[in-house]
Amino acid sequence: MKTYRNLPLFVKILIGAVLGAILGIVLGKQAAPLKLISDIVLQSLRLLATPLIFLSLMHSLLSTEVKEKTAGRLVWILMTNTIFAILIGLFVANLLVPGSHVHVPAPTTGIDKKPFDPLVDLVGKIPKDFVNPFAGNDLIGIIFVGLVLALALRSLRKGEHAGKIQSLIGYLKLGLDTILKLLHWLFELVPLAVLAIVAQVVGTTGFDPLINMAWFVASVVLALGLMCCVYLVRLRLSSKIRPIQFVKGGFDAFTLAFSTASSVATLPVTYACATEKLGLREESASLGIMVGGTFNHDGTALYEAMAALFVAQAIGQHLTLAHQLVLVLMAIIASVGAAGIPQAGLVTMIAVFTALRLPIDYIPLLLPLDWLLDRCRTTVNVAGDLVSTCIVDR
Ligand code: ASP
Repeated sequence: MKTYRNLPLFVKILIGAVLGAILGIVLGKQAAPLKLISDIVLQSLRLLATPLIFLSLMHSLLSTEVKEKTAGRLVWILMTNTIFAILIGLFVANLLVPGSHVHVPAPTTGIDKKPFDPLVDLVGKIPKDFVNPFAGNDLIGIIFVGLVLALALRSLRKGEHAGKIQSLIGYLKLGLDTILKLLHWLFELVPLAVLAIVAQVVGTTGFDPLINMAWFVASVVLALGLMCCVYLVRLRLSSKIRPIQFVKGGFDAFTLAFSTASSVATLPVTYACATEKLGLREESASLGIMVGGTFNHDGTALYEAMAALFVAQAIGQHLTLAHQLVLVLMAIIASVGAAGIPQAGLVTMIAVFTALRLPIDYIPLLLPLDWLLDRCRTTVNVAGDLVSTCIVDR
């Protein structure tokens, strides 16, 4: 027990995942109730994500000088990474033509046809009051409230309120440290949650759908792998963190992202990896991971582009260069709009399919593969947040 306690978190998570896979194979469909255990831990992680975002954002905006240039640089890094991801996805899908290797059956299941309109969605994200974003655990609303409050307080820092603002910074730090303490306690339960979730998924979904569409699955995994190489090259060129150091320091976050398929649930761990293991400044982590991470989903963007091209190839619909340019644009919008929760990308994919006039009824065909591909793209989403944070920190 003592040896187990001393193991790093990612080793414990990997042990949980392997035991979970074995348990899933043994139990089959009977593994379904295990979801309850993972739900409890994942919900607690998401619960901590909200105050962590708010407190770290307020604290770093009030206590440090966040320059406009830094924020602008972050947006540039995030945007170029996303474009790279989509281009890699399109390149691999055009090269390997995964859609020609399958006979896609006509869709039998329906999908929630509520249209995803990026503009309406964006306007709807502006909170109508100060309370609801917190009550509803709405991350974008909380970032919005945190940003406007912190900016207003910053402008009062030098006048008659200077003393009170100094005390406020002290209380914010106390809040932040309390949440981080809770997070470290919760880390003890994470491997158990991973065991439960992997057992449930392997037991109830199994590997058959993956084997049937192996060419597509392999193409997506290859493209995501290439994107990771791009990250490491960018890191080598533009950050003082070495690639090996990055992989080691971020491993807890990567394994958790892979196990949970949720970048929001992973967010507190990503933050801890950035500040505690990679030694990045708190203000860089607040911007890059908390704000950037909520909007930036490179793996999702890559996947959405590939999935659209895959379905078009499978049903024999030719996508011209112009179509593929629209695809790039829509994949950016859809990935920004995707929440960091499991399978969120499949919902925003409706916008991509609609823009390309592809039948959205084919999206559910991707569902049986999503338990694996979602994990892979979530890991890339989290890696992208960490890479951008390392670069702005320099
Ligand atoms: N599961 C992904 C995430 O949490 C979103 C998605 O692509 O479905 O980042």
